[in-house]
Amino acid sequence: MDFQDTSELAAFRSNVKIWLEANATKRTDKLHMGMEGDTAFQEAKDWYKKKADDGFACLTWAKEYGGAGLTSLHEVVWTQEVENYKTRDAHFVIGIGNCGPAVMHFASEEAKRKLLPRMASAEDVWCQLFSEPSAGSDVAGLRTRAEPDGDHWVLNGQKIWTSGAQYSDYGVVLTRTDPTISKYRGLTLFMIDMRQSGVEVRPIKQMDGGGHFNEVFFNNAIVPDTYRLGEVGGGWAGALTVLMSERLAISGVQPTGFPQFLDLVKSLELNGQPIADDPLVRDRLATWYSQYAGLQAVNKRMLTAVAKGGIAGAEASLGKLVGAVMNQEIANFACQIFGPAGIVQDTELSPERAHFQQQVLFSPGVRLAGGTDEVMRNILAEQVLGLPQEPRADKGIPFQDIPTGPA
Ligand SMILES: Cc1cc2nc3c(=O)[nH]c(=O)nc-3n(C[C@H](O)[C@H](O)[C@H](O)COP(=O)(O)OP(=O)(O)OC[C@H]3O[C@@H](n4cnc5c(N)ncnc54)[C@H](O)[C@@H]3O)c2cc1C
Repeated sequence: MDFQDTSELAAFRSNVKIWLEANATKRTDKLHMGMEGDTAFQEAKDWYKKKADDGFACLTWAKEYGGAGLTSLHEVVWTQEVENYKTRDAHFVIGIGNCGPAVMHFASEEAKRKLLPRMASAEDVWCQLFSEPSAGSDVAGLRTRAEPDGDHWVLNGQKIWTSGAQYSDYGVVLTRTDPTISKYRGLTLFMIDMRQSGVEVRPIKQMDGGGHFNEVFFNNAIVPDTYRLGEVGGGWAGALTVLMSERLAISGVQPTGFPQFLDLVKSLELNGQPIADDPLVRDRLATWYSQYAGLQAVNKRMLTAVAKGGIAGAEASLGKLVGAVMNQEIANFACQIFGPAGIVQDTELSPERAHFQQQVLFSPGVRLAGGTDEVMRNILAEQVLGLPQEPRADKGIPFQDIPTGPA
């Protein structure tokens, strides 16, 4: 693919530059903006609303659903330009990136026109309610029940690791509606109003000090049938739409830590010599540069596929797997270079505002989110290398008959 802008894309790029110059702060470093606290959340909502009002949110969504009606290539241009600025999109990535495509594909026209424009402008925030205490990698093994009652459904059960549930107005929730058939066929996907008394959100404190995740309990929570996404029993198809969008969204913005590491190496000395002259550092630098360059090439291959109307396939899993491992290795190595100062997590005292110390604590989670390393390897083994599927002992068995541990 030719990566030069067409004249239309060049004009769009120039508009994006002007808008960002006027509405965002240029980066002086390569560090990411935090998500913590109510002030940060309100600032994020205000910023996103302005972006939507000026026609730069949800670029590929149709205008009637709050988008800009543009192409994936416009989205690429936006992503390239916005990288140079500090922005606050993180609270909305799960809603717009993961839930949005499923709502777009499976919701009724009336629901789409009501809910999507508010999602696109960040007036409503959404979360993804899939994982449960005993259903993460094997999400189709979930146990939250949805039972029909007239024109609505009644939900009971528990979700866990729900990012941003404490800020969310709506969620996309995967439930079991029929335990008497095989696990994939007995699932149904819904949109749920999170601001109802039957939904209880309990925050989880993370080891890095943050609090993005939650347990979510449903105690007779109500969902109108008009909020069903797809057929009863067709929830797995909807879930795959969400999971594929998630992997694509993650792989595009997956931090590798390499640009920050390069800055660090350029600025540090060891025993009066530039640290970049140290053979061990040079060896690591070369390894991570090769992986970083490889990931950028894979990303371009993915963009080419998307630009030709295709979908990002296993490249998204590759980007996620390699980038997440590298990010953790780089953080650990940088903190070893710091010596005893590696344990000082103070944004005023530590190099790169303690980015690496923070990543030592956060990067293990990135290797789990959106599918663990092992799950990514299974996808690559089966879909790219054509290796046999792993044995699935529960295949074809009614969900209620699958053996489990003691109740
Ligand atoms: C930062 C972060 C954000 C998250 N946000 C959300 C969210 O918003 N919504 C949501 O629903 N969930 C969310 N999750 C949950 C996430 O999807 C799960 O943590 C993930 O799918 C793994 O599930 P688990 O934690 O239950 O681990 P398990 O599935 O219990 O896995 C435990 C270990 O077993 C391995 N394993 C499991 N199955 C296999 C297999 N078949 N072959 C080989 N190895 C295997 C895993 O790789 C892992 O090492 C988030 C998690 C994190 C860390």
